[in-house]
Amino acid sequence: MNKPRKQHLIDPEVCIRCYTCEMTCPENAIEHDDNNVVVNADLCNFCMDCIPVCPTGSIDEWRVVRDPYSLEDQYGWEELPEQGVIADDAGDTNVEALEDAMATLLADAHKGAGGKTKAPATAAKPTVNLYNLGKPVEATVRGNFKLTDAGADIDVRHIILDFQGHPMPVLEGQSIGIIPPGTDVDGNARLPRLYSISSPRDGERSGYNNVSLTVKREERGICSNYVCDLDKGDTVKVTGPFGATFLLPEDHEARIMMICTGTGSAPMRAFTMRRQRAVGEKNGGMVMFFGARTPETLPYHGPLKRVPETLLKQHLVFSRVEGAAKEYVQDRMLIERKEVARLLQDPKGYVYICGLRGMETGVDQAFQTIADDFGGDWVSMRDTMREDGRYHVETY
Ligand code: NAP
Repeated sequence: MNKPRKQHLIDPEVCIRCYTCEMTCPENAIEHDDNNVVVNADLCNFCMDCIPVCPTGSIDEWRVVRDPYSLEDQYGWEELPEQGVIADDAGDTNVEALEDAMATLLADAHKGAGGKTKAPATAAKPTVNLYNLGKPVEATVRGNFKLTDAGADIDVRHIILDFQGHPMPVLEGQSIGIIPPGTDVDGNARLPRLYSISSPRDGERSGYNNVSLTVKREERGICSNYVCDLDKGDTVKVTGPFGATFLLPEDHEARIMMICTGTGSAPMRAFTMRRQRAVGEKNGGMVMFFGARTPETLPYHGPLKRVPETLLKQHLVFSRVEGAAKEYVQDRMLIERKEVARLLQDPKGYVYICGLRGMETGVDQAFQTIADDFGGDWVSMRDTMREDGRYHVETY
């Protein structure tokens, strides 16, 4: 009988197939097929380089096994197997010690990273991986609208995709993949790029089988240029939906704090529209800290002005307005510290952070300062909120 050993695995239900872990792994231990992203137990040396780069925490799965799961096993999974019972027979490795060592490794790897989260307890059950690399679905472009001003230095687009008769059951906070045409330098088909859905579950246009995306043109971005140049009537290959944790609680009394930069506002738009459609404008409890360079480059600046404060309290901050001091979301959180503190102490308070990876540290420090004000232990509060499905980070 083999000695127990730890095995690093990926949760196929939570993984959003962004392949960042695969690109990061220095041991080439992570690979994918059309269906799943998997870890080769013979190559993984637990260096933990893949942990902080994973936007969802799906990479952060570990099992103690006597016989490691093979790549074939993992490719066939739709969900992760539970930890089996491992008898600690005499002479074997101590299973508890193994688990302790893993916990220490994870605590180190998670410092400053998004960390592993859970879906809110009341969130609807998401559908994931309905369409994959080998079996994508075709969508038709119904609209491509420029969200940023003509003279602005950045180009952000609102793209509407219609799935017609093909089911695309999405929840707010989920992502879909777009497969750009052509091949990479090695002649392989290109991998999909992920975009958060910016429309609610019942469609960009209520009752229609369509979704919207918020896409910024990146200077040398193969997929972003492809998407931003799409014309009405064009067709695109789509994978997904992906993501099973960055979801909205179904409890309409939940208080939602959304903190985002740039196109990280995509899921926040979906959350806001969902609540507006589900409970109407009278229900408040949503607050947003949203950072962009200027008003001209803040996605949905015009439409946001029409969202009533009863539904959504908005703090829009700008970093590059001529003649004005640079302001980041974390700066405004500190100014609005009483409001932030109230939500942190509310058992029905939920936090969602989405956008630039660089904002994570500043936002975390702001929470720390605010928690200090009321004598809270921020690190343990954050852990508890994560464990309860009330603290969510998706940054790239
Ligand atoms: P951006 O325009 O480059 O930046 C937005 C704002 O964030 C700017 O005001 C910028 O200020 C500020 N900022 C920069 N560093 C910051 C920091 N450390 N703390 C707080 N604010 C900071 O943003 P973007 O290019 O749209 O980027 C959005 C990010 O969201 C991307 O990384 C994207 O991958 C990610 N995302 C996108 C989606 C989607 O569906 N499209 C979904 C999830 C996440 P400066 O003036 O200093 O630059």
